[in-house]
Amino acid sequence: MEHEFDIVVIGGGHAGAEAAHAAARLGCAVALVSLDPTRIGAMSCNPAIGGLAKGQMVREIDALGGIMGRAADATGIQFRMLNRSKGPAVWGPRCQSDKYAYAREVQRILGETAGVTVVGGEVAELEVEESEDRGWRIEDRETASSLSSILHPLSSSSLRIRGVRLGDGRVLRCRAAIVTTGTFLRGLMHTGESKTEGGRVGEAAAKTLSGCLARLGLELGRLKTGTPPRLHRDSIDFGKLEAQPGDVEPLPFSYLPEYGGSGVRGQGSGKSGGWKPAMRQVECWITNTSERVHEIIRANLHRAPMYSGQIQSTGPRYCPSIEDKVVRFADKTGHHVFLEPESLETAEIYCNGISTSLPAEVQEELLPLIPGLEKAKILRHGYAVEYDMVWPSQIRATLETKKVAGLFLAGQINGTSGYEEAAAQGLMAGINAARLVKNGEADFTLRRDQAYIGVMVDDLVTKPPTEPYRMFTSRAEHRLHLRNDNADERLTKVGRDLGLVEDARWIGFEGMLGAVASAQSVLAGLRVGDVTAVDYLRRSEVSWEDLVKVCPAAGGIEPSVGRRIEVRVKYSGYIARQDQQIARFAQMESKLIPNGVDYSKILGMRNEAKSKFATFTPRSLGQALRISGITPADVTVLAIHLDRKAKSV
Ligand code: FAD
Repeated sequence: MEHEFDIVVIGGGHAGAEAAHAAARLGCAVALVSLDPTRIGAMSCNPAIGGLAKGQMVREIDALGGIMGRAADATGIQFRMLNRSKGPAVWGPRCQSDKYAYAREVQRILGETAGVTVVGGEVAELEVEESEDRGWRIEDRETASSLSSILHPLSSSSLRIRGVRLGDGRVLRCRAAIVTTGTFLRGLMHTGESKTEGGRVGEAAAKTLSGCLARLGLELGRLKTGTPPRLHRDSIDFGKLEAQPGDVEPLPFSYLPEYGGSGVRGQGSGKSGGWKPAMRQVECWITNTSERVHEIIRANLHRAPMYSGQIQSTGPRYCPSIEDKVVRFADKTGHHVFLEPESLETAEIYCNGISTSLPAEVQEELLPLIPGLEKAKILRHGYAVEYDMVWPSQIRATLETKKVAGLFLAGQINGTSGYEEAAAQGLMAGINAARLVKNGEADFTLRRDQAYIGVMVDDLVTKPPTEPYRMFTSRAEHRLHLRNDNADERLTKVGRDLGLVEDARWIGFEGMLGAVASAQSVLAGLRVGDVTAVDYLRRSEVSWEDLVKVCPAAGGIEPSVGRRIEVRVKYSGYIARQDQQIARFAQMESKLIPNGVDYSKILGMRNEAKSKFATFTPRSLGQALRISGITPADVTVLAIHLDRKAKSV
C-alpha cells in the first residue's frame, strides 16, 4: 500500500515533533512516523526543560514559532531562572516538567496542526533514486562578495529521497525525509552485566535503519548515555533533606504571555509579571552521596559496563555517570543528588546526579546509604543506552545530508544530547525540508551571532562531536547578544519572514517593540538626583525595581518593558564592542564557497587541509576557518584559489 506525502518525519521525539510542526505550518503534508505514537514527545531521561544555554534555545525555538516553550509552560511544575546571581546575559530559564502532561501537550499541539498525519510503525528502509541534476544558478546575494558571483550547483548529491518503507511493508512516498531516531538505532541498554535491546526502557530498538543509512554511504558512529534510578516518593524521608523551591515570580518560556497572548492554556494574567503557571507547583530536594557510597562504587567498577569494556562508545563528559564522577573527581567526598518529581500524577522521583549502569543489586546497596533514601523503594533501576549516530560532517548547515538530496537528519542522531538541542535541530530541518519541497532549495541557516541554534549547527558541521554534544553558554562567542530575554528581538522577524510566526505573535511582538521605544523616550527625560535615570539604571547594583522606587514617574512603564530596557542599558558598551567583532566575522561569512571545488588540485595547500575541506565541504570562508585543524593560512590559500577561479569564469 502506498501513500503520498510531501515530507516524512521519522521519529516522534523532541526533534521529530518540532520538525513535523514546522513543516506542516509551512504548508506541507507531513507524515510523522513513530514506533509508538502514544509516546510522542516523551522525556526519556530528566523531566525538565531548559537550563543554562538550553533555556535560551527554548526561547529561540519559541520566537521562531516552535512548540517546546509553549508545551513546557503548560506543563511545568516548578520554574526557576538559573544563574540569577550572575549577569542577565547568562541567566537560563528552566522548568521541572510533568513528563506525562508534557508529552500529552506536544501530542495535542500536533493533533491541532493541519497537515500532520501521525503514523504508527517502524521505518525500516529509505527509498532513493538517482537524482537528475537540480540545475545551476548564479549566486548574487546582497551580502556576497565577488566570490559568490560564481556558477553554483544547487545540489551535488546524485541520490535523492523518494520515500520510506515501513517494517510491515507500507510505503510512504515523499520529496523529503527527516530522520530523528534519537537513541533507538540499534539501541542496547545496559544495567551491569545485563544487556537488553531497546531505545529506552520498555521500548524496542530500531534495527534495520542503520544498515540502510550505511548502504547509502553514510558513516555511522556509536555513542552512549545513561539515566539514574527512579524512586517512590512515599519511601523518601524528606524531613532529612534540603528543599529547593521554585521562583516566587515564575517566568514563562514562551513570549506569547508577555505580549498579552494566550500562549498557555488556562493561565491567569496576560502579562509576564503576573504570569501564573497552569499546573500546581512543587518542590525539589537536595541530598548528597558520601565516601561510603563511593567505596561501594569503586569496589564494583569492573561490573559497570563502561569500565568492564562492555560499552566502548563514548558518553557525555559534562553529564557523567556517578561511576565516572567517583573516578574522575577522586578527591571529592560527596556529590549532590537532586530529587525531582516526574509528574503530579505518579509518585516517581528522578535522582538527578547519579546516572548509572551499575548492576541492580549494587544500586540497591548504595542508595540506602544516601541521607533521606534509607528506605527508598526503587521503581526503576538506572541504565545506560548505546546507539548508532551519523557523524555530522556528512550534513550541511541546513541539516540535509550531502550524500542524499532531500534526506535530513536532526537530534540525537547527529551526535547531540538533550531535548532542547534535538528540538532546535528538528525545527531547522523541518523548515529546510519544507523550503526544499516548496521552493526547490533548502537554504535556511542561522548565524553564530544570531542564535545558540546557529552556534550548535555550525559546531556540528565543522567539529563533529567525539562525545554527545550539549549546549553551553561558553560555546557562544557572542553570548552577550544571545540572551534569553531578547530571543524574540533576534528571531521573531526571521520566523515571520519564513511564514512560521502567526499574526497574534507578530502583533504582540510589534506592540512590545513600540512599548520599549516609548518607554525609552519617557526615561530619557527623567532624572534621579543629579544623574539621568538611564545612567542611574546603568549601575550594576541598581535594578529596574530600584529605579521605580526612587523615580516614581518610571512606575507607569510595564515591568517587563522596564526589565528589557535595564538589560539594554547595562550591556550597551559591551554590545557595541561585540557588534564591531561581528561585523568583522560577517565579511568572512559572506564569502561563499561554490559546491564541487576539487580541493585536491589546489596548489600550495597542505594535504591535511585538502582532506578536511573535501570532507566538510564548507559553505563559506568563515565556516572553513572554524573546521578543527584548519589554520588561517589554509583559508588564505583557499580564498586566493577561489578568487582566481571567479576571475577566470
Ligand atoms: P528521541 O527523543 O529519542 O526520540 C526518538 C523517536 O524516534 C522516538 O519517538 C522513537 O519511537 C522514534 N523512532 C526511532 N527509530 C524509529 C524508526 N525506525 N521508525 C519510526 N520511529 C522511530 N539527554 C540529556 O541531555 N542528558 C541526559 O542525561 C540524558 N540521558 C539519557 C538517558 C537515556 C537512557 C536516554 C534514552 C536518553 C537520554 N538523554 C539525555 C537523551 C534525550 O532523551 C535525547 O537527547 C532526546 O530525547 C533526543 O531527542 P530526539 O528527538 O533526537 O530522539
